[in-house]
Amino acid sequence: MSMQKQYLEQLTGVFGYPAAENPTVVIQQAAFKELHLQWRYLTIEVKPGDLKEAMQAVRALNMRGINLTIPHKLAVLEHLDTISDSASIIGAVNTVVNKQGVLHGENTDGKGFLRALREDGGVDPEGKSVLLLGAGGAARAIAVELALAGAEQITIMNRTAERGKELVSHIQKNTSSSAKFLPWKSGAAVPEETDILVNATSIGLAPDISAKPDINYDSLCSGQTVCDIIPAASTPFLEEAESRGLTALDGLGMLVYQGAIGFTLWTGLEAPVDVMLRALTAEFSKKGAKKGE
Ligand code: NDP
Repeated sequence: MSMQKQYLEQLTGVFGYPAAENPTVVIQQAAFKELHLQWRYLTIEVKPGDLKEAMQAVRALNMRGINLTIPHKLAVLEHLDTISDSASIIGAVNTVVNKQGVLHGENTDGKGFLRALREDGGVDPEGKSVLLLGAGGAARAIAVELALAGAEQITIMNRTAERGKELVSHIQKNTSSSAKFLPWKSGAAVPEETDILVNATSIGLAPDISAKPDINYDSLCSGQTVCDIIPAASTPFLEEAESRGLTALDGLGMLVYQGAIGFTLWTGLEAPVDVMLRALTAEFSKKGAKKGE
């Protein structure tokens, strides 16, 4: 066996603008190290007008894949060869796999959420009633994946009614779940039939980490699962659920699982999720909650 060192590295990374605060590098590098892979994850600032050339660079450098974050998740669509069904319904791509020059787009945000719900919460969304707070990009990915996983009812509560109603009609048009909009009034009650409550707004994100959605927490019922996608080990929203004895799932799980799904798409290997979570938790305890994907 040759003892010669091989210097060639397989490249992955993220394109964003800004990109410096994106924490995914920590998760992926920890996974590459754990599995002794000579792979590297690069955090790259790509200005909006430069995306086309950046995607050409993915091919030219034979990068194995790339993540997209703000503001490229929609714009990347026109630079791809194929796209998964769910990413097509969501209308956004956050993960690209380079299959020998064929660029394939996926969206792992909602899938990461589902995996956290199933594996950490022990909850299968099939037949469940969900109340989703928010109607932005993350809420859209989560709503579509929940619907495709068989959620029976998806209720959207959003500050801007127009945006919330648009997401409702999108779910109705593209999935078989039933969807409805609830206006967000101060101290709004959580409907009794809710099985899963999700904060998919940016309320609670650093620096305003003491903020929580303005709902009536006393309307929470036993048996409900409460999820926050803010990437932090705990939030005031989750503390309300925990103090009532409800299952509470934090946004670190979603972040790690969406990274784990990307890792497997790129390498074909099972991701070491425990190692990835430990790396992310250590990073966040150093720096506090950061902006997610
Ligand atoms: P968007 O900007 O697309 O959407 C933000 C949402 O939050 C909108 O529904 C907006 O309502 C709502 N919102 C913001 N401020 C308030 C407020 N003060 N009161 C009521 N509603 C408010 O963001 P994204 O969907 O991309 O991201 C949302 C959050 O999800 C971020 O905090 C992000 O960090 C996190 N995230 C976490 C991930 C993870 O893996 N854990 C992955 C992706 C995102 P309106 O429409 O009225 O403006």
